[in-house]
Amino acid sequence: MPPTDNDIPTSAGQAPAFNALTFDIEEWFHAHNLGIPAKEWSNLPSRLAEPVDTILELLDRHDTTATFFVLGWVVRRSPGIVHRILSAGHEIASHGDWHQTLSDLSPEGFRADLRSARSALEEITRETVRGYRAPSYSIGTDTAWALDVLEEEGFAYDSSIYPVRAPHGRYGLPGAPLTPYRVRPRLWEFPLPTWRIPGRRIPAATGAYLRLFPVSVTEQAIVQNQRRGVPVVINLHPWEFDPDQPRVTAPLAKRVLHYTNLHGTRAKLDRLLKSYSFISLREAVALCEPEAVTKPRAEVETGEPQRDLIMPGTIGRQAVVQMASPPDTASAPPSPLSK
Ligand SMILES: [Zn+2]
Repeated sequence: MPPTDNDIPTSAGQAPAFNALTFDIEEWFHAHNLGIPAKEWSNLPSRLAEPVDTILELLDRHDTTATFFVLGWVVRRSPGIVHRILSAGHEIASHGDWHQTLSDLSPEGFRADLRSARSALEEITRETVRGYRAPSYSIGTDTAWALDVLEEEGFAYDSSIYPVRAPHGRYGLPGAPLTPYRVRPRLWEFPLPTWRIPGRRIPAATGAYLRLFPVSVTEQAIVQNQRRGVPVVINLHPWEFDPDQPRVTAPLAKRVLHYTNLHGTRAKLDRLLKSYSFISLREAVALCEPEAVTKPRAEVETGEPQRDLIMPGTIGRQAVVQMASPPDTASAPPSPLSK
């Protein structure tokens, strides 16, 4: 039976555990929508410094710590930028090395890509990199093997699964949980955010979805998730803060997705940071790890979990409730919900 799209039960009046803020640190020419082959990358100008400084300045002003999923390729070319992010107190995690979607890799190719990126990152961080995000959120049913590899390689969490079918069909896993859960016994999954509109559920509050719509739409999506106790993991890229980046020829739909409203990203993030509190995924894992199970408050969206993707026994009410239900208030960490 195909997954249904019934809404999850609400938990109105109860604060969600957290909202998280993340950035995928890659150059403008790494974006898949532009289709620029890897052999050309080293000849193209870096445009990371200015947008990364913009992001760091905003986070500093709003006293917010975020997770930066950095591409190994970027670490080798621009180590100074990674040092700046690290010295500002943010979490460095992995976006892989060569920005290949996982459907283009074998499990062993993925493992090699993970290891080379990690070695470049840890040369700077001097500590274990614990988080991973797949290029173009490309962990789905056909690439579920990646979750096994991540766990075997010692990663503590992944944030690559969009629990919805994206309109362009390139990613998404309809029926996967909306809230954080153990996707493998030692691996947390922090899903990307969605928004329930009449008739369907769509991606929300990240990248193009944040840029294409007025910020009020993103705020509605955040509030809708908060009311249901679903954490929102926002994600943006440095090139989304760079309206002056070079324009390249690409199919119209991909140019619309990549270039629309680049001039407004900074103001939108500023407004979200003013209105809501965000934490890094490193902090979110720390909230998850006590695993204090109390009363059920939120469930997965559908009753038909993707059994081929999720470990039996790790999906569903119990696993999700571990995250969605904070421990008893006496011992609970302060809920960074809204300002
Ligand atoms: Zn990427």
